[in-house]
Amino acid sequence: MGKGENTQLERAKLIASHLRLSDDLLPHVREHLNEFMAGKAPAVWIQGQNCTGCSVTLMNSDHFNPGDLGFGKLSLRYQPDIMAASGYQATDIIEEIEKEWKGKYLVVLEGAIPTGDGEEFCTFGLTEDTKQLMNRTVPCDRTIFDWLVELIPGAEAVLAVGNCAAFGGIPTMESKVTGATSATDVVEAIDSETPVINVTGCPPHPDWIIGTLIELLLWVDEHREAPVLDDKKRLKKFYESKVHDNCERRAAFEAKRFLKDWNDVRENEDRCLLMMGCRGPVTHADCPTRLWNYHTSWCVGVNAPCHGCAEPDFQNKLPHPK
Ligand code: SF4
Ligand code: SF4
Repeated sequence: MGKGENTQLERAKLIASHLRLSDDLLPHVREHLNEFMAGKAPAVWIQGQNCTGCSVTLMNSDHFNPGDLGFGKLSLRYQPDIMAASGYQATDIIEEIEKEWKGKYLVVLEGAIPTGDGEEFCTFGLTEDTKQLMNRTVPCDRTIFDWLVELIPGAEAVLAVGNCAAFGGIPTMESKVTGATSATDVVEAIDSETPVINVTGCPPHPDWIIGTLIELLLWVDEHREAPVLDDKKRLKKFYESKVHDNCERRAAFEAKRFLKDWNDVRENEDRCLLMMGCRGPVTHADCPTRLWNYHTSWCVGVNAPCHGCAEPDFQNKLPHPK
């Protein structure tokens, strides 16, 4: 076995353990990694109304470094933040995938989709139509909605990454102007037959994104049954438990030892952050056991209340401590 294959096996093992997959799936995980590296099973990452946080979280993955993603070794052929191509070179990639991989490509959506006022609040690329601008004839911008109308029917499945894509998220606040709508609802309206899986969080943990992608590929290749989703179309294994149930400050909660003032500093005494607006009791995610930033810590671990960012409408329920 060559050095490269060894590395791939090690990586497959790491992914399988982080995603809690059984050992008998290791060959399939490895097979998919090889496919990724060979540039097969293409995915197109489209951004609507977003802050790019979901792309950044993906680059924090300990399974793929930005080099893997940026040099096209991963199947992610179009990703506006890390790809080298620009202009027509970039949009031609989408057109090629659409023609050559009909029915087999994945669409990853980041951000909400504007549906107000001709859907023109979010555009990339150009159409063949023209318009007058400052006494000149120029091509019209292509709306993201228009791209989705073309891309979704030929997609094998859609991954809605982040709360903006899954539920509308922050762009839906005061959204009367842009008509921000969840990507999940837009996909459903375009083609209700295309399966959509949500990966929620603002942003989601990189393991949740990579893990859902791997599960999806194992499923479409029939190595595994359909992924078990919850009522919000998320992979159950990442979002089943409540943050509160696994929190390291649960003992403080039970003992009613609450922090009530940020200036009340007491070293070596854990206090529950419920009174400071912690949303852990109503938020489903495995943050306390998975941990963030290369599995080192998480919000409550660094003295910040859980913001409930994996749940719908979290942006309107953010803690407002006194
Ligand atoms: S879900 Fe959060 S991190 Fe992701 S694009 Fe929206 S605002 Fe940014
Ligand atoms: S800090 Fe939050 S998640 Fe932890 S025990 Fe208190 S309320 Fe629950």
